[in-house]
Amino acid sequence: MAHQASSSGSSAGSDRPATHAPKILDGKSLARAVARTTAARVTELRNKIGRAPGLAVILVGENPASKTYVASKHKFAKECGLETFDSHLPATATASDLRKVIESYNANDAVDGILLQLPLPKPLDGLEFVRLISPDKDADGLHPANQGLLLQGTPAPRPCTPLGVMVMLDLALSDLTVTDSTTLAEIPQASLAGKSAVVIGRSQLVGKPMGFLLLERNATVTFAHSKTTDLPAVCRAADIVVAAVGVPRLVKRDWVKPGAIVLDVGINRLPDGKLCGDVDYADVAPVSSAITPVPGGVGPMTVAMLISNTAENCARRNGVSL
Ligand code: NAP
Repeated sequence: MAHQASSSGSSAGSDRPATHAPKILDGKSLARAVARTTAARVTELRNKIGRAPGLAVILVGENPASKTYVASKHKFAKECGLETFDSHLPATATASDLRKVIESYNANDAVDGILLQLPLPKPLDGLEFVRLISPDKDADGLHPANQGLLLQGTPAPRPCTPLGVMVMLDLALSDLTVTDSTTLAEIPQASLAGKSAVVIGRSQLVGKPMGFLLLERNATVTFAHSKTTDLPAVCRAADIVVAAVGVPRLVKRDWVKPGAIVLDVGINRLPDGKLCGDVDYADVAPVSSAITPVPGGVGPMTVAMLISNTAENCARRNGVSL
């Protein structure tokens, strides 16, 4: 994992003057840095256990967005040298069909990570099936046992999207410029002691684990949601704002403290087909010290952390320390 280092010379959230151009946190180049580290770990694992880590991806139905996500996860996994397994079930698949596929991957020793692409077609309940995945093969970090371990601060697969956001936050707080040779290990793990963070959204997939990862790093965390009173004022108090809402361009300039770091998890499709985040990027970027674009921000990092999680699962399952 990223080594501990002080972020001397870097400014943390509100310390950075608002008049500076914001640091644009490019998820694509950062994902390449994660890929370089994962590929090296895959080579090490091959040498030590005689095989590459295996990722099984399960897709149910024909949701076009899900198909695109699955294709990009496969491509990224292949590029990092993983072995991939693929199951595409029809939208008419029954609970029993899906259970059998998950159980077969649970029993397959060549599989270290199982990803069930969500959402599932109705009436299948995604989180009910995530519970059937062996916790030590949970690539997404969403199994209740792993979420419990997150609360305890015990090593276990962490949810990919919040994990990716944490790396982006580390980059925001460092002076590092990502190049074609940067690896994950070069990104110093920032101390968030004394920083206040607001997470907008409290879903099991993103908002809640996001808040606990920030807390684990000593940030003072506020969870905001649809029942929060005066959300703009709550956000304005924060050095770090993470938006995981699903409402296009909800977060405006006057919600953000000058110099704050803004991390946008939202992926929303507009009527014209274009994608946008939960943050009004053009409005907010000038007052932030660092900000993620959508697309090309948190999305690529989610994929990268899924593949990284699978390599880490493989190491943990085989008693190898990377
Ligand atoms: P979700 O399960 O629908 O949760 C949304 C959360 O936002 C809920 O906690 C909800 O509050 C809160 N919320 C909704 N409207 C709000 C408002 N007007 N003001 C304040 N809070 C509000 O969504 P999710 O799965 O967490 O995903 C959130 C967004 O991230 C979506 O756009 C999704 O597509 C995107 N996403 C992106 C990635 C990625 O890789 N970049 C990964 C996963 C998700 P209540 O709890 O009170 O209802």
